Amino acid sequence: MNESYKIHLSEKEMPDAWYNILPELPTPLAPPLHPATGKPVTPDDLKPIFPDALIAQEMSSETWIEIPSEVKEIYKLWRPSPLHRARNLEKALGTPARIYYKNESVSPPGSHKPNTAVAQAYYNKKAGVKRLATETGAGQWGSALSFACKLFGIQCTVYMVKVSYYQKPYRRILMHVWDGEVYPSPTDRTNAGRAALAKNPDTKGSLGMAISEAVEDAATHEDTNYALGSVLNHVLLHQTVIGLEAQKQLALAEDKADIVLGCVGGGSNFGGIALPFARDKIKGKSNVELIGIEPASCPTLTKGQYRYDYGDTAGMTPLLLMHTLGHSFEPPGIHAGGLRYHGDAPVLCNLVHSGLITARAYTQNPVFEAALLFARTEGIVPAPETSHVIKGAIDEALKCKETGEEKCILFCFSGHGHFDLAAYDDYLEGKLVDYEYPEEKIAEALRDLPKFPTGI
Ligand SMILES: *Cc1c(COP(=O)(O)O)cnc(C)c1O
Repeated sequence: MNESYKIHLSEKEMPDAWYNILPELPTPLAPPLHPATGKPVTPDDLKPIFPDALIAQEMSSETWIEIPSEVKEIYKLWRPSPLHRARNLEKALGTPARIYYKNESVSPPGSHKPNTAVAQAYYNKKAGVKRLATETGAGQWGSALSFACKLFGIQCTVYMVKVSYYQKPYRRILMHVWDGEVYPSPTDRTNAGRAALAKNPDTKGSLGMAISEAVEDAATHEDTNYALGSVLNHVLLHQTVIGLEAQKQLALAEDKADIVLGCVGGGSNFGGIALPFARDKIKGKSNVELIGIEPASCPTLTKGQYRYDYGDTAGMTPLLLMHTLGHSFEPPGIHAGGLRYHGDAPVLCNLVHSGLITARAYTQNPVFEAALLFARTEGIVPAPETSHVIKGAIDEALKCKETGEEKCILFCFSGHGHFDLAAYDDYLEGKLVDYEYPEEKIAEALRDLPKFPTGI
């Protein structure tokens, strides 16, 4: 067995292609439906907001999609990312399990998000687009896209969920450093934003609402496209570099994953690490357990209904078949802003529905307790989102301690928490609230769901 703390790949060993699970799903993905007609969406429907290359990837039946050399050159600024063996954490837990984490926090914006931001900016630039409009929760996606747009010389407009805009000024500043323009959403710049403000002037905002604003901005400006940081097939596709690299690194460590975990907001980092492993499972080559971890206050996979819903609050996006809490659901203002989304990637939901993936939910305080143990053993301060998966991995390692099983646990360390120190301050001062499952608010939001067939 390899004795290393970190397992590195050389730049030459970076994957040449992303893995597209669509043609290999045991149950085919239900098509997205047009919000007005209820009919399956056609590529033409998406052209006002996405470039052709990304529309093709969204619906592709190719298993492998080559990573353009321009994208690989930029990936090399931080990729291949290291795989760490969490030896100090293992010792602190007294577990016989081996814990590995794939460290996506080494990217310039500090998370996995530039893996897709760079690809999306590249395809839009190639299509002659001058500006990208997007939404951001905690600011991770907005900063990743601002960074990527800067490198390709296009403009970036970010609608940032209002609660995070004020809670996380440093990420807004980071976006400004990379020349992004940032607005607290809902704004009075769009019809969707003005309607939301009229309904509730004190709204904290939500990802769904910010998506409505960004989509409207893109759809109403000729030179502007929209970019989404999670949920869609092409986003998960780009993120598969995480899992593909991790598989090579585990092989170098002469190890094989028994459990793979990721935190789930819209499902892109978990999809990115898990889909290449899901492939082995689908092909009967492994029995790996794939576990998504979400917040108890926004428990999409564990408590949502599997049915068609809009991706945004205003009902402008196509309807997606996913686990949803209802597009009008506004989750409590937890610190893991990146996990406050009412739905999840249709690909992940499909795999949860067919039993290949399971999910689990935790409240904030135990999650931060896990984050501190991690920071005090492994040294890196995790993002509040990432702290959820750390809690999940620790629980699996503690189970091994009870049973004596020497399992290999792999998780995606999706980002660092250097801009989230106020959340740590709240936790250390005992000020963090454990929002339980907001049952009534979710029931109310679910009553607003569109009446479309579930596809099941
Ligand atoms: C955005 C974000 C998430 C959640 O998004 P996914 O699409 O579910 O990955 C998780 N961790 C970090 C650090 C993030 O920035």
